[in-house]
Amino acid sequence: MLDLATMRIVFAILTFAMLVLFYLDTYRRTSAPYCAWWCGTVAAFNLNALLQLVASTGGQGWARHLGNGILVLGAAFIWAGSRSLAGRQVGWRHWAPAPVLAGVAALATTNDGPTSTESVIIALVGAGFGLGAVELLRVWSDSRVGSRPLAVASAACAVYFLVRAPVQAILGPEALVAVTVFGPGVGTLLSMLMLIVVTSSMASLSSEQHLQLLKAQAAQDGLTGLLTRTEFLKQAQVQLHAAAEAGTPATLVMADLDHFKSINDTLGHGAGDQVITAFADACRGSVRSTDLIGRYGGEEFMLLVRGVDAEGATRIADGINQGLAASPALAAMAVAPTASFGIVSTSDAKEPVESLVRRADVALYRAKAAGRNRAVVATW
Ligand code: GH3
Ligand code: MG
Ligand code: MG
Repeated sequence: MLDLATMRIVFAILTFAMLVLFYLDTYRRTSAPYCAWWCGTVAAFNLNALLQLVASTGGQGWARHLGNGILVLGAAFIWAGSRSLAGRQVGWRHWAPAPVLAGVAALATTNDGPTSTESVIIALVGAGFGLGAVELLRVWSDSRVGSRPLAVASAACAVYFLVRAPVQAILGPEALVAVTVFGPGVGTLLSMLMLIVVTSSMASLSSEQHLQLLKAQAAQDGLTGLLTRTEFLKQAQVQLHAAAEAGTPATLVMADLDHFKSINDTLGHGAGDQVITAFADACRGSVRSTDLIGRYGGEEFMLLVRGVDAEGATRIADGINQGLAASPALAAMAVAPTASFGIVSTSDAKEPVESLVRRADVALYRAKAAGRNRAVVATW
């Protein structure tokens, strides 16, 4: 059987390696706040193990008390990190009171023995895990957070430490059950297991969230917040199939701002960007939230409206131009910008979206040729 000092050395080496790897790989890659809190927890557990080693070699009370204070601080960081993971606010009151309470418990000790303060410290550590588990259990059903293994690990540790504290306080640290089930050796082993489970879960969780963020960024145009071209075409194909199966028409609208180059040339690119943003807002204001709007590139846009025929889409296009003319952001412009539209309607489930785009593009070209500021419906 390993003695406590050996276990603490192993624990200190393991937590140090874990901290370095987690910081360099997960935290630096994602910069997620909950990963920063977790770094704090692992660092605190590591420091505590080192300080308890110092205390056990020379019996220095200061090292034991300092280690205890740092340990409960690390446990409080679990609460803070869980709140941050659950998307809730974190303030100093979530982590500062725990080490203060540990300090008060240490000062209230009449002798320098470990018995009097230890139950308080264990209870504070249990509270940190418990509050963390409560935060994580609140978002249990939210699959986006993906924190279930963390909730289970925190809850298990909370139960262990919260039962251990009164057992030790009532029976004393020398009682058989206190030594065999709740002794510092078992506590160190459990902490080691918990650190491994949480660190690896957190690494995969933050990678997953980082990936989701990158995917969301790739799907969204940076200037307007509309769908990117690739994302629009992908989603449009799905919507076209669904509309055809439901037996309802779906209509694709291609839009291109008129004489946009001269807006850029006379008023500057900043004003050009404002027109693009205002046009995106006018599109949003003219269709349902379930319809698709994408920025095809530059000053070209596409919309896919379901349950609307070509005639209905023509009215939508007129509404977009009216919305653009009424945009408060463009009030200072002498001449209101306009757009031309090419419209194509289909109820053919087999027609690929690319074919619709080609047909809408031809209609758009005709709208430009006919004098701009109008919508033309495709005839083939
Ligand atoms: P038309 O009526 O025939 O469509 O003429 P146009 O001037 O709108 O068309 P053209 O294709 O000649 O010019 C489009 C311009 O849009 C050229 C390009 O510099 C500008 N542009 C493309 N993307 C952006 C952008 O993100 N911001 C700004 N400000 N300008 C852009
Ligand atoms: Mg263009
Ligand atoms: Mg144009």
